[in-house]
Amino acid sequence: MPFNVEEIRKDFPILSRKVNGNPLVYFDNAATSQTPKQVIETIVDYYSNYNANIHRGVHSLSQEATDAYELARQKIQKHFNAEYTHEIILTSGTTHSINLVANGFSSILKVGDEIIVSALEHHSNIVPWQMLCEKTGATLKVIPMNDEGELVISEYDKLLSDKTRLVFVNHISNALGTINPIEDIIKKARQAGAAVLIDGAQACPHIKPDVQELDVDFYVASAHKMCGPTGVGMLYGKEAWLKQLPPYQGGGEMITEVTFKKTTYADLPHKFEAGTPNVCGGIAFGAAIDYMNTIGFDAIANYEKELLDYATQRLLEIEGLKIYGTSPKKTSVISFNLKGIHPYDVGTILDKMGIAVRTGHHCAQPIMDYFKIPGTVRASLSFYNTNKEIDLLVEGVKKAKRMLS
Ligand SMILES: *Cc1c(COP(=O)(O)O)cnc(C)c1O
Repeated sequence: MPFNVEEIRKDFPILSRKVNGNPLVYFDNAATSQTPKQVIETIVDYYSNYNANIHRGVHSLSQEATDAYELARQKIQKHFNAEYTHEIILTSGTTHSINLVANGFSSILKVGDEIIVSALEHHSNIVPWQMLCEKTGATLKVIPMNDEGELVISEYDKLLSDKTRLVFVNHISNALGTINPIEDIIKKARQAGAAVLIDGAQACPHIKPDVQELDVDFYVASAHKMCGPTGVGMLYGKEAWLKQLPPYQGGGEMITEVTFKKTTYADLPHKFEAGTPNVCGGIAFGAAIDYMNTIGFDAIANYEKELLDYATQRLLEIEGLKIYGTSPKKTSVISFNLKGIHPYDVGTILDKMGIAVRTGHHCAQPIMDYFKIPGTVRASLSFYNTNKEIDLLVEGVKKAKRMLS
């Protein structure tokens, strides 16, 4: 199927609305992606036809809902190429997935153990490890970054030792778009005998990871950044790890037998899925993965590369505009500032023109500190964006510059 962006845009009802009297230009895809009608219809169908609690009822609705939910788990398993379906834990999102793993390791780590994170992390990938270190007496080490917004791998080599128990790195930085060399990071961690968790929240909208080929211990993502709904996400964990880690929350669904003396936990994946899950969200997550695979990840990558090159070239025409994150290995995220102008003011003027960008530190304050800036304007582009929208952004930024300087 040839890539036809105008046809694809018809799948997204929201793209035809107006904001402040202008057609919406949505460039905040790294915060959350928009939802195609195929996913919206899945949600409407669920609540219209088979809304029920799962894994418990003998009645037909419950069985239909259970089947659809478990089918979604299989779709996620296939998509990430996990060996077993029970290695896929459905969570409320990346943050929940990371906390689940961090909590599990609190019973494993000891004083003197070390955890390595990267300077490019999202706050949700820093705070849980700080909490884990406080609880266990382990130490946090940080792989530094350079001016291009890339990790300095020679420094990572020096941090690794037989004390390293865990390495946590995002696959792609949400603030700068840098694609981190996770294959190399995983291989070296493995040689040091450390486990690796990769935060794929920002990678999964652009590429299709293969967890077996990566030989990664844990991989996490959120549905809402890849055309699915909010409030649902996944944790992939190697079977051996998931068996070893204790459950995160106690409740219904996650037990086989409960007496006041002792409770036995359910098998995987239910051990980690206490309480009624986001049934509809899980099913819609499966539909989102189907949708993205229909477009095709090669087609998405090629088209987004064209968008990135065009947007970079056009924005750099503006005098006084600086782009942060200039690695040749990056996805379609452009973080920038106008000299002497606060990013928030630029974002406000763009919004008046119907252009949605993110301004601020993007939950990645350490990166902003590195560049000694309060934040950036971030335009994050998706496969349903167009060059025409990029032209509108460039016009808008020029207008903001005229008004604010
Ligand atoms: C968005 C994001 C998160 C947090 O995802 P939630 O869906 O809010 O839990 C974590 N890491 C990265 C890299 C992200 O982009």
